[in-house]
Amino acid sequence: MRTSSLRLLQEPTVVVLAAGHGGMDSGATNPPHEERKQTITIADQTAALLRGQGIEVEITPHDEDTDKSITWVNKNFGFGDAWVLELHRDSAGGLDFDDASRRCGIYYGTSESSKDIGNFVRRSFILNSAHPNSWARPDTASRFGRLGWIRQTRPVAHLLELGFMQGNNDDAHLSWLAKVAATVIPEAFTGRSL
Ligand SMILES: [Zn+2]
Repeated sequence: MRTSSLRLLQEPTVVVLAAGHGGMDSGATNPPHEERKQTITIADQTAALLRGQGIEVEITPHDEDTDKSITWVNKNFGFGDAWVLELHRDSAGGLDFDDASRRCGIYYGTSESSKDIGNFVRRSFILNSAHPNSWARPDTASRFGRLGWIRQTRPVAHLLELGFMQGNNDDAHLSWLAKVAATVIPEAFTGRSL
């Protein structure tokens, strides 16, 4: 797109979305809701909204888990080709319902340029009605210490957490989260606001 203010996003021309988890791993649950099913819904809706804005989008195959999605990404894209985003729903107890419904976050990688994207996206989340507690953190602050999606993919990669499983799980709310993602991503990727 070459119009982004963010250095690592000036070269890539494609956004790649992956639904978090998969294979034997359904992610977080809040019965009857499963994170994996929701991330597929959100990834598909986000892709459609981005394509409607003229952005080229690929989705990693939904029948693959994270490891296979990483392999798929690396087979199809190198550094500078794409911005690859894995979509998740967060999980924690003790949050008030509105916070749990609207708090979003982004994990970034080790470089300052990756962090710049994280901080941009956090600000954009909040300006687009995500909860003010929305955050940007290095992957070292995740519960796994480091995230394969960010460390092992060749293109620039981030991981988004879109609301909590303990918040609103209505279809309309999942669509709202997709709309937030499909607003925040172009602002970072092309410098355009809707
Ligand atoms: Zn997850």
